[in-house]
Amino acid sequence: MLDRLPPVRGTYTTNAPLHNKVWFGVGGAADVLFEPQDVSDLQHFLCHTPRDIPLFALGLGSNLLVREGGIKGVVIRLGKAFQAITVENETLITGAAALDKVVAQTAFKHSLTGLEFLSGIPGTIGGAVKMNAGCYGCETKDTLYTADVVSRDGSLETLSNAGCGFSYRHSKVGDDIIIVSASFQLTHDDNNSIAERSQKIKVEREAAQPSKVRTGGSTFKNPVGHKAWELIDAAGCRGLKRGDAQISEKHCNFLLNLGNATAKDIEMLGEEVRTRVKEQTGITLEWEINRIGVE
Ligand SMILES: Cc1cc2nc3c(=O)[nH]c(=O)nc-3n(C[C@H](O)[C@H](O)[C@H](O)COP(=O)(O)OP(=O)(O)OC[C@H]3O[C@@H](n4cnc5c(N)ncnc54)[C@H](O)[C@@H]3O)c2cc1C
Repeated sequence: MLDRLPPVRGTYTTNAPLHNKVWFGVGGAADVLFEPQDVSDLQHFLCHTPRDIPLFALGLGSNLLVREGGIKGVVIRLGKAFQAITVENETLITGAAALDKVVAQTAFKHSLTGLEFLSGIPGTIGGAVKMNAGCYGCETKDTLYTADVVSRDGSLETLSNAGCGFSYRHSKVGDDIIIVSASFQLTHDDNNSIAERSQKIKVEREAAQPSKVRTGGSTFKNPVGHKAWELIDAAGCRGLKRGDAQISEKHCNFLLNLGNATAKDIEMLGEEVRTRVKEQTGITLEWEINRIGVE
């Protein structure tokens, strides 16, 4: 495939392992991993890459289950050049590869409120925008002002909040569109109040969710009017295992890799939960975790 890709200033890695780049710690390799040097390098790559080559943007892999057969095509991962964060009055502008936690800390340092919820989400801003990440009543869409994206033809475009088409854990940003930066419209507040809200989220998260584990976060979306974990619990799936994959005892909407689970173990266990919940309640759970790649 490499001979069909344009020369770039960034780096290409062929047959690049992905298990070490995703939270679950499983999965095959990408045909090619491309790490662009900057936005113009990414634009050049997109503009000159044949359209039949599939592309996939990888953030921190905290919402991904990569199957054993890996990813056919090019996985694009943004690096240091996409991590800068600047603040102008009440606007915070951040590169898409900045960690959610660092963005939340930067907002705090400038006495800005609106991004406390990001402090506990273990991904990047690109992933947060794409997934409309959120917790404890706040979502990315609440304060996002614009997102800069590069399209398949290499053009750089600024999407408004409405243009991102946000809904629950979803945006309409297409799968072959790369988010390169985002701006957030925040408001000033006193640091004690911001710290108190962040601390409350941290305490609630630690009490409710497993920590220091290989997981993809919430496995299924909450169906309208229901909590996914309650349905999973009622269907008797708390602690359910398949190989080294397990439904967490602590929070049963979390799927865990206990050590040596395969992507197939994890996915099949998730499917078993969906089947049991459907049989018991008539409700079909929808995956929140992105499952990608070939078996
Ligand atoms: C322990 C744990 C706790 C979690 N808690 C929460 C929570 O409270 N709330 C919540 O919403 N989520 C939670 N998650 C899920 C996850 O952290 C979020 O969905 C996060 O926003 C994903 O970001 P990422 O950078 O890891 O993206 P990835 O997992 O790498 O990718 C997720 C999606 O975003 C796309 N993407 C990533 N970067 C870009 C980019 N630059 N341009 C275009 N598309 C891109 C990918 O293509 C993919 O479709 C949790 C996960 C874990 C492991």
